[in-house]
Amino acid sequence: MNILFVASECAPFVKTGGLADVIGALPKALGQLGHSVRILLPAYPALDTVKDGGVCVISRLDLFGGAVQLVASTAEGLDLLLLDAPHLYDRKGTIYLDEEGEDWTDNHLRFGALSQVATQVMLKGAGGWKPDLLHAHDWQAGLAPFYLEQMGADFPTVTTIHNIAFQGLFDADTRHALGIIDADFTMEKTEYWGKLSFLKAGLTSSDAITTVSPTYAQELMQPAFGMGLEGLLQHRQDDLSGILNGIDTDIWNPATDKHLVSTYTSRSFKRRGANRAALEERFGLAPQDNAPLFCVISRLTRQKGLDVLLDALPHLLYRGAQLALLGTGDRDLEEGFAAAAQKHAGQIGVEIGYDENLAHLLQGGADSIVIPSRFEPCGLTQLYGLRYGCLPLVANTGGLADTVVDATPQTLRAKTATGFVCDPGHGDSLRAALDRACDVFAQPNKWGQMRRTAMAQVVDWDNSARQYEALYRSLM
Ligand code: ADP
Repeated sequence: MNILFVASECAPFVKTGGLADVIGALPKALGQLGHSVRILLPAYPALDTVKDGGVCVISRLDLFGGAVQLVASTAEGLDLLLLDAPHLYDRKGTIYLDEEGEDWTDNHLRFGALSQVATQVMLKGAGGWKPDLLHAHDWQAGLAPFYLEQMGADFPTVTTIHNIAFQGLFDADTRHALGIIDADFTMEKTEYWGKLSFLKAGLTSSDAITTVSPTYAQELMQPAFGMGLEGLLQHRQDDLSGILNGIDTDIWNPATDKHLVSTYTSRSFKRRGANRAALEERFGLAPQDNAPLFCVISRLTRQKGLDVLLDALPHLLYRGAQLALLGTGDRDLEEGFAAAAQKHAGQIGVEIGYDENLAHLLQGGADSIVIPSRFEPCGLTQLYGLRYGCLPLVANTGGLADTVVDATPQTLRAKTATGFVCDPGHGDSLRAALDRACDVFAQPNKWGQMRRTAMAQVVDWDNSARQYEALYRSLM
């Protein structure tokens, strides 16, 4: 099958979160099942060298006030179709925000253009390659299935919700530039409380809707999680399914990871010590081995429940444990953690920023990764944690609930425990989970068994890619 992915980010080229990891890994897994996937992406400056090595497959298009072309290129084992539109993407700032941290005012055009070009590729192909099916990811690709439906084109379409908190809402007037007629600006189609919703356009127009874990698929139909789209998703529940994300086990492999000071396997765990020492140096932590070193690698936002962790820090310190945190995000959280690190130097270390190398080193050197999210569509850092024996301590929600087995007397006895689970958004429950983790850490045999069980979990893409394949076939 030939499948066109449409997305706004793709690891390792351009990444702000888990969406990029999925787009960088799932096509390879589908490729191994014999399918051909091309990823349509904006040609941001970060992709300049990849673009320069490609060939132009569509040219002489004029879109939203500038000339654009489509360049096919292959890099890092991925087949890319890069939408080269300098007037839309060649900018400083981030891929979504300007240098002041505000949304680009023309984001509707930047990602509307992506969807318009997606329809061209579906209808005419690109460089001789013709897709059979369109798979749109998140709001940035939401208009692609909508445009196809509007044109009466009969291609199967799938939209995946990676995080429903981001819906691509724009002023009603923006619809005119995007060619959305009033008959389609209705609550049945693209309108959400007077605004244009890119995500809703995708969800109402696609043949199938997926999200990134079975539990999140169920949660999305509830008001507490659906962020206003729960009614629509209830209505479409027969077409909604949850397929768990996998991880790229070549990039995230403790036995070969170039970012580690010392690589290791579940049989050579002692070798992890050098990674731990590197973390101590980097975060200014005192050497100690009688209590766990917890870590966080995250966007610092309310979604991730890190305010709850900040409040629980006195308890973590009371237990003699340590914390190394890497993240960026909301200013109050950045300041709160930075202040805690200053006050408790040697026990708490904080690095505000985004650092892919350090994220690997943390997984390879810390004892446990804390992910106390209020909601979590899938979550990837707990999967990396499992693979690296950095035991996840997670909230019981979304994909976290689907992938971590809580350490209870029963699961410890059965040797199935892989982490620690607490209630989302609940300080006492988080403190209790930190306690339980410290208690098990004090029993090296049990902790070692949990690490082995965690590292033996299957977290690659194979099984999930087969589920996507089955879904695609059901739509053909
Ligand atoms: P989300 O997509 O909601 O941010 P996920 O857990 O699905 O959360 O994916 C987050 C991805 O981003 C992971 O690959 C994680 O390692 C990475 N990440 C998050 N924050 C940082 C950071 N500050 N530095 C490096 N990598 C980060």
